[in-house]
Amino acid sequence: MKIIFFVLALLSTTFCFAQRTLIHCGSLIDGKNKEQLQQVTIVVEGNKITSVEKGFTKPLKDDKLIDLSKKTVMPGLIDMHVHLEEETSKDRLLSRFTKNEADIAFQSTVYAKRTLLAGFTTVRDCGGTGVNIALRNAINQGLVVGPRMFVAGKSIASTGGHADPTNGNRKDLMGDPGPKEGVINSAEDARKAVRQRYKDGADFIKITATGGVLSIAKDGSGPQFTQEEVNVIVETAKDYGMITAAHAHGPEGMKRAVLAGITTIEHGTLMTEEVMDLMIQKGTYHVPTIIAGKTVAELAKIPDYYHKLVVPKALEVGPKLQETFGKAYKLGVKIAFGTDAGVFPHGENAKEFGYMVEAGMPAMEALLSAMQVNANILGMGDKIGSLEKGKMADIVAVDEDPTKNIATMTKVTFVMKDGVVYKNE
Ligand SMILES: [Zn+2]
Repeated sequence: MKIIFFVLALLSTTFCFAQRTLIHCGSLIDGKNKEQLQQVTIVVEGNKITSVEKGFTKPLKDDKLIDLSKKTVMPGLIDMHVHLEEETSKDRLLSRFTKNEADIAFQSTVYAKRTLLAGFTTVRDCGGTGVNIALRNAINQGLVVGPRMFVAGKSIASTGGHADPTNGNRKDLMGDPGPKEGVINSAEDARKAVRQRYKDGADFIKITATGGVLSIAKDGSGPQFTQEEVNVIVETAKDYGMITAAHAHGPEGMKRAVLAGITTIEHGTLMTEEVMDLMIQKGTYHVPTIIAGKTVAELAKIPDYYHKLVVPKALEVGPKLQETFGKAYKLGVKIAFGTDAGVFPHGENAKEFGYMVEAGMPAMEALLSAMQVNANILGMGDKIGSLEKGKMADIVAVDEDPTKNIATMTKVTFVMKDGVVYKNE
């Protein structure tokens, strides 16, 4: 009998009397609905939201109160396109030969923390050396402060393509990277490259479907895979339950990726109406990364900032992203928030909201594209993306109403991830 009482007592301390944190929210954007709610209390227990209540619930004796009653509260933001391993700099090319993996790892922890403190509690890392996988693991273990990460490992390219890691090198330093390194030249290579990434611990597959701006190569928009290669990449990824993302500037490479069933088109700079229609038909998302386009166009004006092959591409492609996004949105293409952080300084991700609004997307829609929309794409729709009972406690706040002043998103003053407060100003 004594033992039973002891077990009951133990259970009750563990489960019934876990400390509650009450968050009083002045205004609430729930992540799913366009209407804001006024005066709401979010109850957090451990790392979960256990209740969302109307009005300001009075805290009981053991409750902790967080007063955000003057703020606009929303779910932790989700960025579908970042590169946490690196950040734009003049010596980016040289660093390929001077930085060890450990150097990359240490600097990535700084970018990860900055990203989280900017309100992005979840990111999709669209490619690096593979250190991004170790960074995700370190964050998940609580060793490093950073956002919840979904990582591609090293992105997949074809020889000489946008993500061929040896472009522009001296011949003896070029070698001949293959599927293991993420460079493919056949359907068979494509299958191997996807399986290798699965084995490495990647969460999804990123390909460079067309040329790109920052690679040391002349062409910035032509297709770089055959239809068969992209088909095999998408099919194989699906076998492992992985979604796929395609970097794409030109329409032909985009079209092949969309036909293959790619989940998201990144950038989409020269997207034609034909491609937009196809994306609507197939349910493909556009990840606009407008801020990256604007940044490269600006940096290209600084003498010698970029390699001479990069400059003309940056000047041509950069300014077009915003206009294309505006057209795609108006036509009805599904939009997923994503920035390409790393191409511009980490932590400035939220500037993208302003550019989306400027191009014609209502502020609330732009915000929701970084919430439940992205959570669903990541297969995390029941865990993150909105403020509801049962979801993880990823919660952020800003001082003003972002539907009235979208720039307030660049000054996030409260960040909670997984029930832990990282910022409260
Ligand atoms: Zn990118």
